[in-house]
Amino acid sequence: MYQCQCQIIPDDVLKRWACDPALSEDLCKNADYSAKLSKHFRSIRLENKRLAGFLLENHALTTLTENPEVTLFDCRQTQSLPGTQIKDPFNDEDPTVSRTYTETDHLATFLRKVFKRNSIDNAGMTLMSSVHYGKKYNNAMWNGLQMIYGDGDGELFVDFTLGTDVIGHELAHGLTQYTLQLDYDEEPGGLNESISDCFGSMFRQWRLNQDATTADWLIGHDILGKTSRNRSFTCLRDMADPGGKHCLAPQPVHFSEIKSGMDPHYTSGPPNLAFCTACRQAGGKSWETVGPVWYHVITNAGQRPRMSMSEFATETRQAASELYGKESAVANAVHAGWQKVGL
Ligand SMILES: [Zn+2]
Repeated sequence: MYQCQCQIIPDDVLKRWACDPALSEDLCKNADYSAKLSKHFRSIRLENKRLAGFLLENHALTTLTENPEVTLFDCRQTQSLPGTQIKDPFNDEDPTVSRTYTETDHLATFLRKVFKRNSIDNAGMTLMSSVHYGKKYNNAMWNGLQMIYGDGDGELFVDFTLGTDVIGHELAHGLTQYTLQLDYDEEPGGLNESISDCFGSMFRQWRLNQDATTADWLIGHDILGKTSRNRSFTCLRDMADPGGKHCLAPQPVHFSEIKSGMDPHYTSGPPNLAFCTACRQAGGKSWETVGPVWYHVITNAGQRPRMSMSEFATETRQAASELYGKESAVANAVHAGWQKVGL
């Protein structure tokens, strides 16, 4: 079974850079190395997903308290995890450390205030992050247990903690692990990736207090380095225009374009566009309109590792009607979103 890679940059983007004749040998080597490394995290993630499934089936209810603990570790450019724990990350002079601490804590507040959720497992799980992972490592990931952030090579990508959508995306993989338990291939894989983009983008909009109609809906806009920007890329993915030329990893737009065996970072295009379209049509803040509909399905549908996109579409249509009323603006917006991508 193809396991969750759960990193923000798809392998093929890194592999494409790795054999780009216009780049220096160092940049190519680094991109190649970053692509290869991700494979070695698969077995850890599978074990942690199994453990989460067991806990889900045997969980006592917990109460909503204050934010969970946020812990920060510094790998100091090595690859030994989790690294050295930082005693007072909020006041640390390293901006990567203080920023990661602050944004992770904001994410816990976002889950608690907006969705009444107590950390990603809804049981107060400590949110653990390691920064400065590896040398010029071009990725960020959720390994089933914690967040891991690379510094980027400074050319193709910069410090991965600079993207609040990146932080939100990765921690949302944890949310999926403790709810639907979606697999990471075919349609469930695309849904898995899309849920992370939806929550990553919502978190970025919430931090900027943006309306769905004025938000840019870009994923990875804040982590692109100058070499990427000089080639007119402005993002990794665009939820409003998944196939756009300004995307480093352009995606299918319509459900009919999804083919078996595609990387989930690509098949997430249609559900991303459905969510973005629904939020824009509903107007206002995404986390107050369509966001709660997605959250309702994710947290009420049970463990559904093989959930298809059309099943998810049906459940969100039903949830929108239940939460807002059959002919409500949100229910109509959710319907219009899925209709646009052929679901
Ligand atoms: Zn992901």
